[in-house]
Amino acid sequence: METKPTTLRTFVAIELPETRAYLAEVQRVLQQAPVAADLRFVSPGSIHLTLQFLGDIPEAQVPATTEALQSALKGSREFLLTLGNLGWFPARGPLRVLWWGLEGDLEALKRLQKAVEDTLVPLGFRPERGFSPHLTLARARQGRRVNSRDFESAPLPSAESHAKNIPVGAITLMRSDLLPQGAVYTPLWKGRVEHVCPVCGYPGLEVEAYDLVFDLASFEICPCCRFQYGATEEAGRSTSITRWRERWIADGMRWWFGNPPDGWNPRGQLRNIGVELPPE
Ligand SMILES: [Zn+2]
Repeated sequence: METKPTTLRTFVAIELPETRAYLAEVQRVLQQAPVAADLRFVSPGSIHLTLQFLGDIPEAQVPATTEALQSALKGSREFLLTLGNLGWFPARGPLRVLWWGLEGDLEALKRLQKAVEDTLVPLGFRPERGFSPHLTLARARQGRRVNSRDFESAPLPSAESHAKNIPVGAITLMRSDLLPQGAVYTPLWKGRVEHVCPVCGYPGLEVEAYDLVFDLASFEICPCCRFQYGATEEAGRSTSITRWRERWIADGMRWWFGNPPDGWNPRGQLRNIGVELPPE
């Protein structure tokens, strides 16, 4: 009879599929290094950004964990990352991990990581010690001495044309199974950040009001303030967003299409985008 595992080895990650083709190319170059045999390379499809390692959790705790993660996404916005450079841990001494760094909106990334960490503390998970965003490419094999100098002059492909602006808008609760051929990762749950209306702060838009990568308007109409990104705008985005917001507030901050969601709070919604109204 088959016995079901009662605990799952899990971690919270950001999947960055856009980086895989480039990082696979990087790995091919690194695999030419004389010491490559002393490294165990991560399969390109498994490369990810770890936000927090959770370790073994009872299967029954998964729903509470995903619920916490969903709340961590509340108030988070989509942001852009770019690929950085090759790096390794530790900084001195024999190499343990070879990784690729990330650049771009690291402040937003750190905020998201902190939000994840903070919502998991009440469930008994210990915070990460010093979050350092990186994508692990390879690990030194047990007992092998690898020197970072062996990679310093590797002719790495230019990252110029690859994954310049990677939009980050989701986190994944990942299950990790350690098999003889290496770790296998399976997504257990995936949650998206909120898409917030820049006019009224309503966090339930279908898509981002403005595509961060192409800087294009979505043309979605906000059901709350009825602003249409890209169409309602007149002279310059910020001017018209501000003007429309003033108009919406002057009209009594009403909900325009259908019924407002349960517990709808227009003042709180505005506060979340930094608009503080004078007390009533
Ligand atoms: Zn709106």
